[in-house]
Amino acid sequence: MRIGSGFDVHRLVEGRKLILGGVEIPYEKGLLGHSDADVLVHAVMDAILGALGKRDIGVHFPDTDAQYKDISSLVLLTKVVDLMKQQGYRIGNLDVTVMAQKPKLKDYIPRMLKNLADVLECEISKLNIKATTTEGLGFEGKGEGISAGCVCLIEKL
Ligand SMILES: [Zn+2]
Repeated sequence: MRIGSGFDVHRLVEGRKLILGGVEIPYEKGLLGHSDADVLVHAVMDAILGALGKRDIGVHFPDTDAQYKDISSLVLLTKVVDLMKQQGYRIGNLDVTVMAQKPKLKDYIPRMLKNLADVLECEISKLNIKATTTEGLGFEGKGEGISAGCVCLIEKL
């Protein structure tokens, strides 16, 4: 078994869709980034890459590469899963924390879990997503951005 951690932040801006865990969430702002800026999925990808000892998403999917412009991060996650399988691993379990003052994410978490389970090719019971505010503190608390952290255990096939 190997363990990895991932952390990511994106800025909240007007005129962008808010996509978290592959779910479009109605909100007045969305996350800014080269891809769809799905901060949750990015943290998951970095945790898996970390567990594999394969650097990070910036190395694999550079934001200077036009083919990744506005791409669904679930597509990028598929590529990370392919790499994981090539290396002979599958998900042991995975735990994500999203830090956002607004909007409330609780009702969207079941769909996020389903999206992740489909791409990660594992049971939903191996996955956990938590959402928390930061009590109004910091950039998440002021609504300037959303951050996400993930730890992931992978096990040999
Ligand atoms: Zn990101």
